[in-house]
Amino acid sequence: MEVQRLPALSDNYIFVLHEPQQKIAAVVDPAEAKPVLNLLNQLDAELVAIFNTHHHFDHVGGNRELKRHYPQAVVYGSAEDNGRIPHQEVFLKEGDTVTFANRSAQVLFVPGHTKGHIAYYFPPTDQAEIGELFAGDTMFVGGCGRLFEGTPNQMVESLGKLKALPDQTRLWCAHEYTLKNYKFALNVEPNNPVVQERYAEVERARKQGEATVPSLLEQEKQTNPFLRWEDQNLQTVTESRDPVKTFGRLRSMKDRF
Ligand code: ZN
Ligand code: FE
Repeated sequence: MEVQRLPALSDNYIFVLHEPQQKIAAVVDPAEAKPVLNLLNQLDAELVAIFNTHHHFDHVGGNRELKRHYPQAVVYGSAEDNGRIPHQEVFLKEGDTVTFANRSAQVLFVPGHTKGHIAYYFPPTDQAEIGELFAGDTMFVGGCGRLFEGTPNQMVESLGKLKALPDQTRLWCAHEYTLKNYKFALNVEPNNPVVQERYAEVERARKQGEATVPSLLEQEKQTNPFLRWEDQNLQTVTESRDPVKTFGRLRSMKDRF
């Protein structure tokens, strides 16, 4: 399974999973149809699945048109998003498994950004030594999603599930928010050398027009402030040793940043 990243709208990424031998493809969070249709033509691949992480327009906006071109493509989404995702046919819950070609993904229920948000995690296999995590708007490189429909409590639990995945997992998140996220991270921890270094790296990449997605979960665990509620620096900044309070205060600071 190969993963291709397509930029869409102003700062979204759409991911196309491709299996060249079988000439099939799947798409994660098609913000729009056109770039996906173009790539499918180029690859000479047939779309068999649409995996949605949540109901927001910039994640499901392409569903209708993709279904017009590929009526047999199966549309997956969260059971909690029933009625909110165009053409949804499969209603997923925590612990469910979905398959594409020779790979299977575990469905993780990760509410917080929205009440129905799910993530898709493809563990490593004998052929592929790295795992793939499609996290939608739950975890970003250096950040996390805003709490539109959920609570800090839920988000800590959800991010905790993602943080528990192996270090050697690629994080495919749905937005290029990385530079802004690390500006915030550096503002919160100006004296943390690991964050300083990461900020410099991200700034260089963006100046050269490079994408910062995917990152490795290993790196997120070390530098993403929204995963590090156990870190003393962040507990000092937020004046709390309670994970939910530490996270919640950081999230409010970021909302105003
Ligand atoms: Zn969203
Ligand atoms: Fe989004």
